Amino acid sequence: MIMLSRRKALMAAMAWGTCSVAGSDTAKTASGKQTGTRYIAAYDTESPSCLAGCKAIVAVHRKYQMPATFFIVGRTLEANPAEYHELLNDPLFEVASHTYSHKMLRDNPFCGSEISPEDKRTEIFKGKEAVDRVFGKPCTGLRPGCGFVNGFREAPDVLGLVHEAGFRYTSSLLWGPDYSMPALITEPFTYSSDGYPDLWELPGHGWHENLLKNNNKFGPSRMTLWPSPMPEAIPPGFVTTPEEEFAVNKVFLEKAASTHATFLSFIWHPWSLFRFDPGMKMLELTFSHVRKLGLIPCTYADMYARLSG
Ligand SMILES: [Zn+2]
Repeated sequence: MIMLSRRKALMAAMAWGTCSVAGSDTAKTASGKQTGTRYIAAYDTESPSCLAGCKAIVAVHRKYQMPATFFIVGRTLEANPAEYHELLNDPLFEVASHTYSHKMLRDNPFCGSEISPEDKRTEIFKGKEAVDRVFGKPCTGLRPGCGFVNGFREAPDVLGLVHEAGFRYTSSLLWGPDYSMPALITEPFTYSSDGYPDLWELPGHGWHENLLKNNNKFGPSRMTLWPSPMPEAIPPGFVTTPEEEFAVNKVFLEKAASTHATFLSFIWHPWSLFRFDPGMKMLELTFSHVRKLGLIPCTYADMYARLSG
């Protein structure tokens, strides 16, 4: 039964042109137009209520046969290893690391100061080990807690640890200029100028959706840039419905498609999505639009494999 459903999932992924298995450069949109832009659904899985959120999220992914990457905090995974293994051990999904306990690998003006060198080693190595152990295969990607305006550029200590731990890519550039929201549609790059030509940075884009909804209770704060490089992606207030959230997503999806971006991926959190929209209507609206635009769904690991050749 499980084998059958996984096989069906894989075949559906191939039919949709998921990049790891299909190897196709382009997909046709509803209007017959070709696009090579990838879409990656990704989730920063980081707190106890993420488990209930992931159950609802996984159901939508299975319904739409949509791949996803789950970046998971080691401690969160260790609290419920069997449940997460049951949910996420599926060819549709990649499980990657969101550090061991979400401590800051660099200074972040919203999330706090960087931790000690010893603690950085623990966050990077123990976070990866937890994913490797529970899923029985090497985890290749790291998304640090909160992310940084320049990713890990000019952070030789962190890059050295990331490389030593065996990560192949990071997804650490998660902010717009001057730590503003939204994160712009930044293209992937390697850390060659920092001495790591084989290590890729695959940024996240758009809003940290929890901030868009005031789910962290920051209240009104200095978060957008002026003049804004993307004023059409800044709603007049906190979003209050799944439709309003989708309207913001739509701006990014359409811009990524029309500018032929390499990929687009929003910065989503199961706990926050589930609190705001337990029926996951926003996911359904977003995934339907991804299909309509002809974006090609894949995971971060797929994207890395494609870029690194
Ligand atoms: Zn996080």
